[in-house]
Amino acid sequence: MYGEVHHIEKLSPDLLRVVLAGGTLDQFEDSTATDAYINARFLPAGSPVKVPFAPADLEGVADELRPRPRRFTIRDWDADQQLLTIDFVAHGDAGYAGRWASQAQPGDRLQFEGPSGSYRPSADVDWHLYVGDESALGAIGSSLQALAADARAVVFVIVEKPGYEINLPSVAEVETHWLYREQWDDSDNELVDAIATTEFPGGTFDIFVHGEAGEVRAVRQHLAVDRGVDLSGASISPYWRRRHTDEQWRKVKRQWMANQA
Ligand SMILES: Cc1cc2nc3c(=O)[nH]c(=O)nc-3n(C[C@H](O)[C@H](O)[C@H](O)COP(=O)(O)OP(=O)(O)OC[C@H]3O[C@@H](n4cnc5c(N)ncnc54)[C@H](O)[C@@H]3O)c2cc1C
Repeated sequence: MYGEVHHIEKLSPDLLRVVLAGGTLDQFEDSTATDAYINARFLPAGSPVKVPFAPADLEGVADELRPRPRRFTIRDWDADQQLLTIDFVAHGDAGYAGRWASQAQPGDRLQFEGPSGSYRPSADVDWHLYVGDESALGAIGSSLQALAADARAVVFVIVEKPGYEINLPSVAEVETHWLYREQWDDSDNELVDAIATTEFPGGTFDIFVHGEAGEVRAVRQHLAVDRGVDLSGASISPYWRRRHTDEQWRKVKRQWMANQA
């Protein structure tokens, strides 16, 4: 399946909203999950492969020129207009997907499979906890938009620095804490520090923690160890890892997750 870039909107200095239309999107089947994602294929510079491509078209193509798979959340699917919206972190020239989004022009094509996904806010809890970074804003934004007017959510999002926040529309009562990653380091503490010093509302809650692996792990440990929260039903996903390409991250991800279980 593929779509063509319809338009691009700059949500913050490092977050680009890319809206796809046309292509084969008339066959797109939406998911009920609010963290639904596609597995998109990004072409390395100089690749002879053209979208749309079939597996047979990749025969004989050198490894370094083959499409690279990367997962991206569906921020919105407008079934009437057949518009598919994805919010990309533009994190520089390293990698394929972020660079593709930074350079995308109307008419550029993106091929993908999916969607898949598993989280949707529970209707049976008193409130919802959302924690993540820029890469999780699509899923957090989509989840907040799915909440009912009498729902309540507490949100912690870490972004680069002040000025990088985005609007997160919701009819629910939402308390949002924006945190700032003043510099890249391995402390993984900004989110935990903010969560630890925030009094949670009473009652039952569901949990959504997605984003950079070290930050996700630190939050997970805080919730389980410091707060004694039962994480068995929680949606916790280390989307990406600092200083690892997606290929490198996928190789070690299973072991990483097993080590924290
Ligand atoms: C289910 C799922 C849903 C996701 N949804 C989204 C989404 O909606 N939007 C989104 O932007 N990302 C999303 N991600 C994360 C995205 O797939 C990864 O960030 C991916 O590595 C980006 O690929 P790339 O080719 O740009 O960089 P890569 O080639 O994978 O990495 C190159 C370098 O950039 C670094 N890097 C990768 N991602 C980031 C980042 N976000 N910020 C800073 N540095 C980075 C890497 O550590 C590496 O050093 C999702 C991941 C999963 C598993």
